[in-house]
Amino acid sequence: MPHSANAYAAFDKTTPLGPTTITRRDPGPTDVQIDIQYCGVCHSDLHTARSEWPGTVYPCVPGHEILGTVRAVGDAVTKFKVGDTAAVGCLVDSCRTCESCKAGLEQYCDVFGFVMTYNSPDKHLPGQMTYGGYSTSITVTEDFVLKVPANLDPAAAAPLLCAGITTYSPLRHWGAGPGKKVGIVGLGGLGHMGVKFSRAFGAETVLFTTSASKVEDGKRLGAHQVVISKDPEAMQQHMRSFDLIINTVAASHDLDPFVNLLKRDGTMVLVGAPEHAHPSPSVMGMIFGRRSIAGSLIGGLPETQEMLDFCGKHDIVCDIELIKAQQINEAYERMLKSDVKYRFVIDISSMK
Ligand code: NAP
Ligand code: ZN
Ligand code: ZN
Repeated sequence: MPHSANAYAAFDKTTPLGPTTITRRDPGPTDVQIDIQYCGVCHSDLHTARSEWPGTVYPCVPGHEILGTVRAVGDAVTKFKVGDTAAVGCLVDSCRTCESCKAGLEQYCDVFGFVMTYNSPDKHLPGQMTYGGYSTSITVTEDFVLKVPANLDPAAAAPLLCAGITTYSPLRHWGAGPGKKVGIVGLGGLGHMGVKFSRAFGAETVLFTTSASKVEDGKRLGAHQVVISKDPEAMQQHMRSFDLIINTVAASHDLDPFVNLLKRDGTMVLVGAPEHAHPSPSVMGMIFGRRSIAGSLIGGLPETQEMLDFCGKHDIVCDIELIKAQQINEAYERMLKSDVKYRFVIDISSMK
């Protein structure tokens, strides 16, 4: 028996998001039903709502930085009980049988068998797409629900579910730590968490920003140095010095100035996923220095739990601006102007 929930949806690619009612499944044996309290606003929500990436099906209810309270559990659920705090990130299911899934890397499910939290066909409610966290309730199989350390502020922890894991995972994979020089490009939702994690892992951390107004914040958030990336002289001072650069920029831009900052064998990891392709990077810049450009997608379930536990241990949360659902369109406009300090989070009580 399905139940209904209040939600905010995009109805086409140009009209502002507005309120609606959606259908959620009641929990099956292995499901957890969550009353959502907070949902972070990711730039991916905007890309999807406005069809900047191909494949958006309308109505589209975005939101994959979800935190709330367990309202009901199925008979076979063992990890959660009613009243627990629970979180959901970018994935709500996967094939569970391929090599990647068996390795806990469900985001790289070899058969594209993963189910995204929004805008994937819903296996349980045929004919409708999955709907995300801009809503009052969600039902998810317990294997894709995360535990949140009790010491973390719940509103500020919500964006860890995407902005957190998307920067944590490549920093871990490429070995950010003591003795390494790490650059983070862009101080938005992802970037500010990249700065916090890189610093927490013990790396020498440099923030690259296009916004002169963010220099002080960059240092407060943990950067040892902040470089205005539009200033060629400031960039020149860091030539051939980085082991790793995490590029979170949400818009197409010239990658060469950053490739040139990498040491021999250094890597720039692209996590930003802009609507329009970046201009092709210079082959020479990569050959001379055996440099790499790589990509990374969110993180799997085990690593997401590891990241949340790490944040609990080190008291790391996001810097947020709490908004009402009614302010979502204004938040999108501010995100486009790089005016986010540093993640909008929707207070879902505003939807009731
Ligand atoms: P955001 O909060 O809007 O931050 C993006 C930042 O990029 C801005 O604050 C700005 O920082 C910089 N920027 C924006 N436009 C720029 C331009 N034209 N030139 C140079 N810098 C620019 O976005 P977000 O939520 O962090 O997401 C960033 C990107 O990552 C999006 O494309 C999103 O879809 C993608 N994403 C990917 C994954 C993944 O798994 N790979 C996961 C989540 C999100 P400054 O003001 O400091 O320059
Ligand atoms: Zn996201
Ligand atoms: Zn799989």
